[in-house]
Amino acid sequence: MKVAEIREDRSSLLASVQQHASRWFDALEKRPVWAMASGDELRRMLGGALPEKGEAPEKIIEALASAGTKGTVASAGPRYFGFVTGGSYPVALAADWLVSAWDQNGAIYVLSPLVSVVEQITGAWLREIAGLPATMSFGFVTGGYMANFTSLAAARHHVLQNAGWDVEANGLFGAPPVDVIVSEESHYTVPMALRLLGLGANRVRRIPTDNQGRMRADALAAALRGGKGPCIVCAQAGNVNTGAFDPLEELAELTKERGAWLHVDGAFGLWAAASPKHAALIRGIEKVDSVASDAHKWINVPYDCGIMFCAHETSHRSAMALAAAYIVTTEGERDPRDFVPELSRRGRAIPAYAAVRAFGRQGFAELIERNCRQARRFAEALRDAGYEVLNDVVLNQVLVSFGTSEQTQRTIAAIQEDATCWCGGTVWKGRTAMRISVSNWSTTDEDVEQSIEAMIRAAGKHVQ
Ligand SMILES: *Cc1c(COP(=O)(O)O)cnc(C)c1O
Repeated sequence: MKVAEIREDRSSLLASVQQHASRWFDALEKRPVWAMASGDELRRMLGGALPEKGEAPEKIIEALASAGTKGTVASAGPRYFGFVTGGSYPVALAADWLVSAWDQNGAIYVLSPLVSVVEQITGAWLREIAGLPATMSFGFVTGGYMANFTSLAAARHHVLQNAGWDVEANGLFGAPPVDVIVSEESHYTVPMALRLLGLGANRVRRIPTDNQGRMRADALAAALRGGKGPCIVCAQAGNVNTGAFDPLEELAELTKERGAWLHVDGAFGLWAAASPKHAALIRGIEKVDSVASDAHKWINVPYDCGIMFCAHETSHRSAMALAAAYIVTTEGERDPRDFVPELSRRGRAIPAYAAVRAFGRQGFAELIERNCRQARRFAEALRDAGYEVLNDVVLNQVLVSFGTSEQTQRTIAAIQEDATCWCGGTVWKGRTAMRISVSNWSTTDEDVEQSIEAMIRAAGKHVQ
């Protein structure tokens, strides 16, 4: 390895990546939305024996770039409506490149004052956009799953501490039982987080929901009545199928009376708060104990950015921070690792910082409103074409049935094959449906019309 040479080539290597990326973006709006190569083809392009000798960097980047044109999904593009993905706002991506270039360790202040300070600023801005109290602490994690995990770790500490039990020191062996209550519609990362926390994925009580998937407040009231001791309730803002919101205001009142912790999974729905037109959906969010969300969905930053907020900073820190002899703390400065289940970590708040500055409060309101309007347009056009919309379109999610379960499945497959756009399937209250999720900054009204045409075309072939 010739260090001097490698250093000298660094700039041209990065410049070549910029060109590859630009070409990839130029194709993004026109290419088929799903991948154009199979797993076997990609293994043929990229695999082989472990290299004995190092290879030339340009050759490696070219191999990746070439596989990237075929093996990637255009989920960052304007006509991808599968799952809830968002895209990458260009300035957020550009900031992400800086994060990689700088290679900062965002564990503690002394490792990178920049990461620490940007987290502090960005977390406070996002908290304000979400309409949360300025007293809430926050942590930047890899995604919504870990945001749920971190929030529920704080909850576990808090409710057991109140019962005189130190869960960090003693674990759950011999601990007072914790009454964990979830919605029957909780996202599956909630039970996954509970499982990691030793609270059990199945050892929970499930509260029934209404026809939109909202937790029924009367059923929660009944479940909480007369209860004593540690209790955690998991609600949600933004159902992955319908986009519906649990009645947070009422739930917060009930949990407060019971002395229970109220956690809300708002992976994408939290950002309804950014839009004056939609903020009513999430009324009461300022009264909850913890909130999990994602920036890599509707905030449109590249992957690896979730965020959680907590109303009890001491419990949050107690659940996460641990002293070690070589960890240096800095008086008056933020050590990011005190708020997350990680030590070495990337400066993942930096792309979000760039996105917040670029959109501003108004820009986010416009983005949310445009995507929601586009979701309503999908619903209206598909209804007019004779297909059934299964949910009240209150946010960015639309569920469509094209007839029988088989007709719907065949239509989804045909839409995916046509590749003008991409949507996945789901089952909603026993019915097979196609799920449309609109959350990308670059989706234009034209993209929506083009996608509607492709959907109706595909359905026409499969539904008589
Ligand atoms: C996406 C999502 C999650 C999981 O978030 P990741 O970022 O994929 O870890 C959790 N809850 C809801 C409601 C989601 O939409």
